[in-house]
Amino acid sequence: MALLIQSKVIKLIFCLAFISSCMANDDNMPSDAKARVWYEAGQSYLAQQKHRRPGGDVKAKNVILFIGDGMSLATVTASRIYQGQLQGNPGEENLLSFEYFPEIALVKTYAVDKQVSDSASTATALLSGVKTRFYTLGTDESNTVENCGKGHLKSLLELAEEHGLATGAVSTARLTHATPAATYAHVSIREFESDAKGCADIAEQLIEFSYGDGLEVALGGGSKMFLPTSDGGLRTDGRNLIEEWKNRFGDDAFVSDTKSLKISNSNHLLGLFSEDHMSFTEHRDKQGFGEPSLTEMTEKAIEIVKQNDKGFFLMIESGRIDHGHHAGIAKLALEETVEFSEAIKRAQELVGPDTLIVVTADHSHTMSFGGYPKRGENILGIAGLDSHGLPYTTLNYANGRGYKEKRDDLSKIDTTADGYLQAAAIPLPIETHGGDDVPVYAIGPGSQWFSGVMEQNVIFHLMKAALLDYRE
Ligand SMILES: [Zn+2]
Repeated sequence: MALLIQSKVIKLIFCLAFISSCMANDDNMPSDAKARVWYEAGQSYLAQQKHRRPGGDVKAKNVILFIGDGMSLATVTASRIYQGQLQGNPGEENLLSFEYFPEIALVKTYAVDKQVSDSASTATALLSGVKTRFYTLGTDESNTVENCGKGHLKSLLELAEEHGLATGAVSTARLTHATPAATYAHVSIREFESDAKGCADIAEQLIEFSYGDGLEVALGGGSKMFLPTSDGGLRTDGRNLIEEWKNRFGDDAFVSDTKSLKISNSNHLLGLFSEDHMSFTEHRDKQGFGEPSLTEMTEKAIEIVKQNDKGFFLMIESGRIDHGHHAGIAKLALEETVEFSEAIKRAQELVGPDTLIVVTADHSHTMSFGGYPKRGENILGIAGLDSHGLPYTTLNYANGRGYKEKRDDLSKIDTTADGYLQAAAIPLPIETHGGDDVPVYAIGPGSQWFSGVMEQNVIFHLMKAALLDYRE
């Protein structure tokens, strides 16, 4: 305690001597000069928001960050119409669950070296408060493949663990994929999921996570990253990380299907429900796999972390909105977004008003929404006729798999069918991300700070201030 007081006094002296260090008076300040610039800018935005939108004594007991991977504004609008139409309505009047939140802002998603970013650099910004390079995860710009130990940025999940809170990460993608991995891992290249060229890989970092008393819950796909090649996995080091987790937390601390997920009583639960990414909602529903839905995983995760009286931090990702778009199949992305909305609705039912819920996307996609379709037209349907008299759809992509040298005659094709590839202007094997801003929605203590056009790394600073700063 004496040491803590001493360090606070030293900080105050510094603070009086140098105004900039006062503004960024934070134990978590990164040491790298470029990273500090981003960190300090995040703290400045927070200070400005506290002044601009004062809201009394902000104390969030819990924070849940929901990330819709690749959930652009066009995706949100199209999905709200899709959901409304599933309910038999015209659709335009509908709102997704998180669109009822009282606060909204726009988020600039670029990386330090790319105008259009990826999920690793953006998740690092969201979870660690610093913008970094494309493909870099949980580390600042000083990290290289050779110096794997350098440039680690502490995530909000790690900080929450240090404060004694319960924590968790949930995703429909592989748990070692960029977005969930940014909560617990630090690597120079996001692809180091099961092998990091002599450094600790992402799966290994999850199993060996050492902050606080460890992650309480981690649910998603990607078991192959945790298993040795002899057991059908990808690990060439011979380690079976699932067995290592069970040795640490007990046999019932690992589950692999919906049934075992629901009955597990473990307070350190790892769930890996598929070898690779989990199934798209559409395929899971139709084929009856043993995989839980994002809503079921959200329910279980909240049930576990709620047991901690101090509070919790959860990151819950809908990872496959992004994959539907990359495939050029808008219907998949819309279905995932509707399920994402359901998971958020369920979370709201399970937590109290002392929880800050933040919903955002990491980056956009190139899906466009246009033409002049009539009110209530099927969102996956036809908008009108092109200059040659051929029908065209309301949703299209700027690039990707849907490119055709000669356009199909869509009067003979059901564009609302499963697997339909929307037209794309530029041929590419995989549709790309988009560079336009994404929305962030917020409700609960601290939500009033979410306004304006923000750099993406600011979101970390707002969540951290609401969840942790008052606990010092
Ligand atoms: Zn992507």
